[in-house]
Amino acid sequence: MLSFYAKELRPPFSIMLTEHDTLSRRCPMLGHEVAFSYCRRPGQEIPCSRMFDCWWEAIDIQAFVADNYSEEIQNAMIQPPKPKILSLIEIIEQARKTT
Ligand code: SF4
Repeated sequence: MLSFYAKELRPPFSIMLTEHDTLSRRCPMLGHEVAFSYCRRPGQEIPCSRMFDCWWEAIDIQAFVADNYSEEIQNAMIQPPKPKILSLIEIIEQARKTT
């Protein structure tokens, strides 16, 4: 299980996890406006891997991620995405197990 939060924040300069939640922008994947809070938790515990590309102009996204997420999460965020066929196979296998 991944450890979600950084063990040591860097007070007094740490950025609160929810500090930017009300910011919004057009999502290049979904094609509509999304709040930063969605980018933090896009239906999974790990933030969207595109956060660095999408938010670097608006906020100090590097510092935000470094302050709020463990090294494991940060490493998971920079992993290349799985090929779609592998994701589909995993979904099919999970469906078979639950039926
Ligand atoms: S970080 Fe992800 S969810 Fe957020 S706008 Fe970018 S692509 Fe969309």
